[in-house]
Parts: sequence; structure tokens; C-alpha cells
Amino acid sequence: MVKAIVGANWGDEGKGKITDTLAEKADIVVRFQGGANAGHTIKNAYGKFALHTLPSGVFYGHTTSIIGNGVALNVPILFNEIKDIVDKGVPMPKILISDRAQIIMPYHILFDKYEEERLAGKSFGSTKSGIAPFYSDKFAKIGFQVSDLFDTKEAIMDRLERVLVQKNILLEHLYHKPTLNAEDIYNELMQYKEMVAPYVCDVALFLDKALKEGKTVLLEGQLGTLKDTDHGIYPMVTSSNTLASYGAVGCGIPPYEIKQIVTVCKAYSSAVGAGEFVSEILDEAVADELRRRGGDGGEYGATTGRPRRMGWFDCVASKYGLRLQGTTDVAFTVLDVLGYLDEIPVCVGYEIDGEVTTDFPVTRLLKKAKPVYETLPGWKEDIRGIKEYDKLPENCRKYIEFIEERIGYPITMISNGPAREDIIYRKK
Ligand code: GDP
Repeated sequence: MVKAIVGANWGDEGKGKITDTLAEKADIVVRFQGGANAGHTIKNAYGKFALHTLPSGVFYGHTTSIIGNGVALNVPILFNEIKDIVDKGVPMPKILISDRAQIIMPYHILFDKYEEERLAGKSFGSTKSGIAPFYSDKFAKIGFQVSDLFDTKEAIMDRLERVLVQKNILLEHLYHKPTLNAEDIYNELMQYKEMVAPYVCDVALFLDKALKEGKTVLLEGQLGTLKDTDHGIYPMVTSSNTLASYGAVGCGIPPYEIKQIVTVCKAYSSAVGAGEFVSEILDEAVADELRRRGGDGGEYGATTGRPRRMGWFDCVASKYGLRLQGTTDVAFTVLDVLGYLDEIPVCVGYEIDGEVTTDFPVTRLLKKAKPVYETLPGWKEDIRGIKEYDKLPENCRKYIEFIEERIGYPITMISNGPAREDIIYRKK
């Protein structure tokens, strides 16, 4: 049985917490796309952790954590993360790394940084983790798979030298930066090889066996629908597919094995980086209050510490995000944060060229969209600790039901606090 946990919006919806919660009943948790450019924040009995590459199942002794072939693998970051959790008392997790996962090369990070510098004010707001240069090289077929680290020195050097011809021309003539030499990179790759060697595995084969044995597998997505390369707010997207459907490609399982798709939707909106964000709160004082109260300790990037852009819940974007994910269940998160508001605006439509639509448009039209709001009364209560749906304040239930009707997908989980146990299951 495979379940996917993915995001409906711009990311940071609280997928880490939901994965951590559902991992209790899972055997295997898989990261299938993206890299260390975003993070999941998890709070549990061991402490508070920001994971960037490790799947959010690593805190349970019984789960196997897998880095799938679709991931942009930054080897030193992965190993620093393992060290960090073990240093904080978490038992050494069982980890498997796909032999077909590709490696973030040292020059991917340099190129990401140099390109952002070159674009200056017109940059994509990249986290400079090398993700876009990495995926460009993967699809240009000049990337390095984990399995390539185990090739002969001659073969690796030959490929590196060919790649560096192109890279060095760009470094010298476009970016005016020092050029690179193959031997240095080779030496770095050999350090990576030593680190990954005990964990390398044919992940697709491993999962095939696991599924035949009836094991439960969670696929953990990074970011959300609106950052998907194909279906998001292109070009202000990430360079990988954030959809559950890509989960099958990103670890090598049949698509029909994915039986449940839990799409995580935050009770308000936040986004990082540049790009269209129709329900953004434009009054900075109002936005800042929500940012400071948001999540667990404020809405600031888990990787970069950057303040996130804040917005009201957007039914148009969320309905689209849920549809593209193929949602079977909505996990509605961070609802407790809204308890301070007298009233809560909800974006129910977009006005584009004088017409109101509830269908999320392409970027060209999105640029013209103005939010149409309906305002609901707040509940002015702390809802943390409540375990049953019926015990939630009436206005809180009305907020959930109002949104559920407009998004058209069942809200079966409500997260009312950052901890594992802060969850209300709701039968539909
Ligand atoms: P992810 O990338 O989708 O996992 O999202 P983040 O790591 O940005 O998670 C959002 C933040 O909200 C983290 O700091 C979580 O600890 C926190 N969080 C998750 N669920 C809840 C919730 O229901 N209530 C509150 N207050 N915080 C939550």
C-alpha cells in the first residue's frame, strides 16, 4: 500500500508533521523529488528538527528512509543531517539511497549562486542550493548518478573533463569567475563515495519486494502543486515535479500502487521567493502579525531563515492544487494559529478582466488576477489540545466546512498544533 503526502500550495504546508504522524504506521518513507532547497520542520519527543533531505520517517526505529532516484542529492548535507539527528539522541536511522539518484555537483551550487548574481533584481529568488543547474544537467544528460561514483577513475575523469569544457567557458566568459579542474572534483566525489557506499541500493527493486510483502510505503513530497515545473506558476517554480504522480517515477514504483493521496493544505497561505500570490496580505502590519504567530515559531524559511510572504486562504489556488495532486484526503494544518483573529478573510474567486473565476489560470492571466474575499467570523480561542472535531468552536468548524465546500475535497485530518499528537481525524 502506497500513500503520498504532498502539498497543495507553495510548500511549507506542514507536510513534515503529517508524514511524521503517519509514519508511525508505515514501514518505509521515501523522498522522491527536490533537494535540500526546502525543509520540513518537525517537533517530537527528541526535539525540533529542520530536515532538508532526510524523509520525515527517520525518527521511528521501525521505518526505512529512502532517497529516491528523483531527488537532487547533496551528499554532504544528507550526512550532516544524519549526524545532527544522531547527536540529538535519535537512534541511527535505516537509510537507503537509490543507485540511480543523481548528485548535486560542487559546480551546481556555484552556478546557482553566480546566475542569481548575474540576474540581480530579476532573479528567481533561488535558495542557491544548485537545484536548477542540477536538473538542467540531468535532462541534458551530463549528470552523475550515485552508481557512477563506483566507476573507474579513468571513466569518471573522462566524463568530468568533458563536462568542464562547457562549464569553464561559462565560468570564464559569462560569470568572470575562477575555472574548475577535474582532479579537484574527482577527489570530492571520492569523499561522497565513501559516505554513501553503505547505503546504496536498487531502490525500485527493494520497493517492488516490499510491496509484494504488503509493506506500507509513504511518499513524502517537497514544496507543493504551485511550485511544480509543469503545473505550477511557471517560471517561478522549482525545477522538479512536486505532484504525487511523479512519486511513481521518482522511486520506480507502478503509478497504480499509490492508493491514497493526502494533500496538505495550510489554513492560511504563505509563499517564499518571487511569483504570483493573489491572496497575499498587502498590509505589512497584518502580514507580520500572522508571520510571527504562524507555524511553530513563525513563518521563516527552514533552509534560509527568510521571512515568508503571507496570505489568506486561497480557495482557487487550493482547489487547483488539490485536483492536480489527485487528492483523496485533505490534511488541513496550522489551524490553531488563526485563533487570534476577530474575522478571517478567505479568497473565494479571482477577478480577471472584470470576470470572476474559481478556476486557477495560467501565469499570464494570474498576473492580472485580483482576489475576491468573503470574510468569516473568527473563533477567538486556543484550539490546541482538542482531539475531537465536535469539540472545536462552532466558528472554527464553520471555517473548515466553508473551505471544504469550496475546494471540493474532503478534509479528513485537522492539525491543531505542531506536535505529532495535535491531530483531529474526521471521518467523511
Ligand atoms: P513542510 O515543508 O510542508 O513540512 O512545512 P514546514 O516545515 O514549513 O512546516 C510548517 C511549520 O508549521 C513547522 O514549523 C511545523 O512545526 C509547524 N506546524 C505544522 N503543523 C502545525 C499545526 O497544526 N499548528 C502549528 N501551530 N504549527 C504547525
